[in-house]
Amino acid sequence: MMIEPVLTIVVPCYNEQEVLPETIFKLQQLVKELIVENLVSKDSKILFVDDGSKDQTWNLIYKEGLKSEFVRGLKLSRNVGHQNALLAGLLTAKEMSDCVISIDADLQDDIEVVREFIHKFRSGCEIVYGVRKGRKTDTFFKRCTAQGFYKLMKKLGVDLVYNHADFRLMSRRAIQELEQFKEVNLFLRGIVPLLGLRSDMVYYDRKERPAGETKYPLKKMLAFAFDGVTSFSVSPIRLVLIIGFFSFFMSLLFGGYFLALKFFGNTEMGWTSLITSIWLIGGLQLIAIGLIGEYIGKIYKESKQRPKYIIEMDMLNLLKPKNHLIQEEEPFQLELRKLTEMN
Ligand code: UDP
Ligand code: MG
Repeated sequence: MMIEPVLTIVVPCYNEQEVLPETIFKLQQLVKELIVENLVSKDSKILFVDDGSKDQTWNLIYKEGLKSEFVRGLKLSRNVGHQNALLAGLLTAKEMSDCVISIDADLQDDIEVVREFIHKFRSGCEIVYGVRKGRKTDTFFKRCTAQGFYKLMKKLGVDLVYNHADFRLMSRRAIQELEQFKEVNLFLRGIVPLLGLRSDMVYYDRKERPAGETKYPLKKMLAFAFDGVTSFSVSPIRLVLIIGFFSFFMSLLFGGYFLALKFFGNTEMGWTSLITSIWLIGGLQLIAIGLIGEYIGKIYKESKQRPKYIIEMDMLNLLKPKNHLIQEEEPFQLELRKLTEMN
């Protein structure tokens, strides 16, 4: 008989009070079903990571955590963004699980395919990617920009899984390897395929956000895409270099042309071509400098090696044996321990 793996579902949440009650309910339902179906162990959990929300998100998580044996929470000290919050969840969850599934709080991704995730994991996959079948639920604009982004990344030589966001299963082993990637500019979708472990895909339809609003408005989405490109590829810099060479040779040609005109006595021309080329070259130079600056900025951030997140409160550690340095338990710790001992 095979022992059921311990599963943890990691859910990053930023100002999600509108969708959380529903999400908490549905995920708990799912975990209970999975346990009954003998797919996962009874110790499986759902770990909500509060990414410095300003609304009632943490209160909702915390209260549910006290009540339910399946729900746990992790509170980050401030908003660090989706990718970092996700990483905080993964690294914390790996301590106590055999496999971890990450999913957005709005449950746009189909939780029914989680079963397939687990089947694949149990048959030996270290990473299972959830891949969207189509983009019917997206606006026309988002569909175009998103697909353009994946194509651009492919052209630049970055190995992304097409139409896969951050809905995936990772084994404990995979997360341990992920931990070795120390970069501060985190773009998980690009890093995970680099692990190269045995992986597979599961296809699903993505739904619309049931409530609340997207935390990725256009500005953030563009920043995210730009970050993805510059974190994984130096092709843009190379492109600038090529353009530089190109315009240098063009100017040689033009120089020859104008000299020839001069020698044959036709000296009328000049101002228009001169002023256009000044602007053209000036513009190109500014773009080039700006682009190089972008990369230097990245190096600057990496060299500081700042922590990517800080955990303010952790409903998992509170459950571990008492720390001797702490003389007295805080009221909420006591409350939590009593509840867990009762269970
Ligand atoms: N999120 C987060 N920190 C942020 C922004 C978003 O943890 O700074 C979470 C958010 O709560 C959600 C997930 O990231 O669970 C994806 O966000 P959203 O659903 O708004 O993005 P979309 O589906 O529109 O791309
Ligand atoms: Mg969403």
